[in-house]
Amino acid sequence: MSNAERFLLPLLVLAPYLAQSGEAKAEARPVTTFEWVDSSMADIAEPNGHTSKIIFLNRCEGGCTISRGFNDSRTNRSTIVPPGTYTISEWNKGDSQWEDLVSCVKALYDPYDIVITDVDPGSSVEHFEAIVAGRANEAAMDQGVGGVAPFSCGVINNAITLNFANENFYSQGIKDICETVGQETAHAFGLEHEYLCTDPMTYLSGCGYKWFQNENASCGEYSPASCQCRNNQNSHRLLEDHFGVGPNPGPNLTFVRPEANSNVSPNFVIEVSGDDYYYGLNNVEILVNGQSTGTMSSAPYIFNAPEGTNGFTTIEVRGTDARGITSEKEIEVNVGESCDAGGCPTGRVCFNNFCIADSSTPGGFAASCDSDDTCNSEICARDEDGVGSCTETCELDKGQCPDGYGCLKAGGGTNVCWPGVTEDTGCGCSSTNPGGGLAGLLLGLLGLVYQRRRRHS
Ligand SMILES: [Zn+2]
Repeated sequence: MSNAERFLLPLLVLAPYLAQSGEAKAEARPVTTFEWVDSSMADIAEPNGHTSKIIFLNRCEGGCTISRGFNDSRTNRSTIVPPGTYTISEWNKGDSQWEDLVSCVKALYDPYDIVITDVDPGSSVEHFEAIVAGRANEAAMDQGVGGVAPFSCGVINNAITLNFANENFYSQGIKDICETVGQETAHAFGLEHEYLCTDPMTYLSGCGYKWFQNENASCGEYSPASCQCRNNQNSHRLLEDHFGVGPNPGPNLTFVRPEANSNVSPNFVIEVSGDDYYYGLNNVEILVNGQSTGTMSSAPYIFNAPEGTNGFTTIEVRGTDARGITSEKEIEVNVGESCDAGGCPTGRVCFNNFCIADSSTPGGFAASCDSDDTCNSEICARDEDGVGSCTETCELDKGQCPDGYGCLKAGGGTNVCWPGVTEDTGCGCSSTNPGGGLAGLLLGLLGLVYQRRRRHS
């Protein structure tokens, strides 16, 4: 391989990098390029024969070495460097910015079935590798080069890409480095430069965050041009075709209030928090018992429960990021009135000063049950004959349980309301609930505690 072969394509245009200044700059990205390689120097998979779904982000702690040779991350060899061995200096921006970079690259690739890791898979595991460290001159590249990748029209198995994160033009934060890593890694997957500002494969900037767009775009750097591998390029579709659909985790959503499985008054307030690293939340929607109660496009995300909400109630939050990726989370609450004064209406029973559904409602307190998930409380306790009834957890000696019930120590740190229990001892030793019944209950509860942990952790 002659050194001249590296410049088969006139792509190493040394456009000056212009600092971000708020206005759109058509040529403000650092030049990131690729170099053609053929099957004599790379394992090129056509079209879906990739041997790994791992991209290792390497910060080169203590320095990395890379030598010219058959492209292989396991032997630290690549055709993107001239003959010789080169040492790339380690990431110079510290741990916190590194974590941001890893999160950002994960976000770029999370629509696809690709694992992003910064733990070296080692020399025995096939993997793609992005070195995110050092400066261009350390790899005998010209000043102004932001990154470089080996390229063919297919996936280059075990390709190494270089992303010169320590260059001064990357001092603005991790967004530009992240998008360079997106571009270089995808070059090694057969993607060309796109003339589409919102795509990581572009040279254009000044249009906000980039992600792989589901759009048939022209190729080209500073003007539309024909693609060399295809008629046009849809980066999203190509990555999905190569690697499959990812888990799409989407925005991270949390209920601030109410607490899951709590008792709440009518007209309770629902508050959720959400974040979506890199892309941002576009909107948050709340559904109560499957009915939408509203959508908000900015925090704080606070909603009032709809009029007439009563009894066992499901609250679902859906958050959508700027790419249109949605995630969901659901909790259940029990909605009703306080029974402080005058007790509860028909069909409800007083538990912990709160009117909850009684045994006339399936899943209500003391209703018969087969399994935990048939009870509103998710606790189906069995008597000595194996007959299940729904109950509630309680605190000892607080008088929380309905009339005729007391709080029973049921083992494993769990107490439940049980008929005929002497409240102040938590002992199930009454005439209506002899010792045999207690043993049966305890056994049932051990299973129950395990199940609840599994469901709610
Ligand atoms: Zn490029």
